[in-house]
Amino acid sequence: MGRLVWLLLLPIFLFASHVQPFKWKDGESFLTFLERSKLPLSLYYNMDDDDQKMTEDIPYNAKCQMLVSSKKTIEQILIPVNDELQIQIYYTTKKRYEMQVIPIVSEIHKEILYTQITSAPYDDILRSTGSKNLAATFVKMFKGRVNFKKDLKNGDPLVMIYDQKYRLGKPFSMPEVSGAVIQIAGKRYALYRHKDGNFYDEKGAQFEKLLFMTPIRNARITSFFTKRRYHPVLHRYRAHVGVDYGARSGTPVLSTGEGKVSFVGTSRGYGNTIKIHHASGHTSLYAHLKGFKSGLHVGSSVKQSDLIGYVGSTGLSSGPHLHFGMYVGATPIDPISVMTKKTEGFSGKEHNTFVAIRSKLDKIFDKELLTKSLKRRGNDFPDVYYVDKDSFKPKMF
Ligand SMILES: [Zn+2]
Repeated sequence: MGRLVWLLLLPIFLFASHVQPFKWKDGESFLTFLERSKLPLSLYYNMDDDDQKMTEDIPYNAKCQMLVSSKKTIEQILIPVNDELQIQIYYTTKKRYEMQVIPIVSEIHKEILYTQITSAPYDDILRSTGSKNLAATFVKMFKGRVNFKKDLKNGDPLVMIYDQKYRLGKPFSMPEVSGAVIQIAGKRYALYRHKDGNFYDEKGAQFEKLLFMTPIRNARITSFFTKRRYHPVLHRYRAHVGVDYGARSGTPVLSTGEGKVSFVGTSRGYGNTIKIHHASGHTSLYAHLKGFKSGLHVGSSVKQSDLIGYVGSTGLSSGPHLHFGMYVGATPIDPISVMTKKTEGFSGKEHNTFVAIRSKLDKIFDKELLTKSLKRRGNDFPDVYYVDKDSFKPKMF
């Protein structure tokens, strides 16, 4: 039986296309990528301004896939722009290449992790779930609050409640944690995500100090952050991984926080651009500038609210404005989420909302700490698929 199946499948293996996974190279432009892959450059030049700009936000190390036929023809390329949108290049029956921006089809699972400390929270979470992102999130959440090295003992339990995205049965992208608790010497340390997206302790006090300020005075937001938006007139998917501030040409642009300049220069899409790396691991980006503060160079140290440049309309821009981006590593995040004011406690309606969130999470914490059922690690599936051109749905390959 086994042998028969093998014989029947053999021709498929011999003549089938195969998938080559690859990672997006740091600093590679879309044009260089097309050139290197011997694909028509018109794929880039036929894009509109917004799509061209979007290609400059492809995160380095993004997990891409190339489907190649046995005759070495590239049949499909998938390049994720973020965790919701991807660029699909495909070879049509008319023997030409086309390109579109399509959604990444994924499922969100609500998950609970219960585990006990055997070495350190990071290692134990990684061992139980296989997710470095989840482990790192936990450590970041409790940093400055619990001294893991000093206080923690083997057997101390921890619980995390989170949403995890799956693509073809495999976790991808950052998990969204709604709450976590760790119990040390019988004392509980819990954190709850409020509806503003920030974590608070039992009392509703936020201890993660927010570091960043608006990079422009008297700011007026003209366009918000979105990882995926469908344009009803153009019938296309769009992403805008930053915030636009409308302002007159020449308006001073200020550093959002203390840091070191990691880029001063020009790109086709973003025009005159500055990037600043901050000690927290964030990188801020200021685009379409008219000019830079004289003397500013890679390696310059800047303090919060230092003048760094001037609002302009360079690059692919429809008028003077500041495009302001914020990244954790290569991943764009909503800048507004790290510019919220520090809250000392909630009052009124806001307090009631927080109490409701807290008691819902506490019920889950209680149950998990009581039942102590260790999480079983999920199956790993191959990260390989072909996207159906019409439904956008992945097909196992
Ligand atoms: Zn923008």
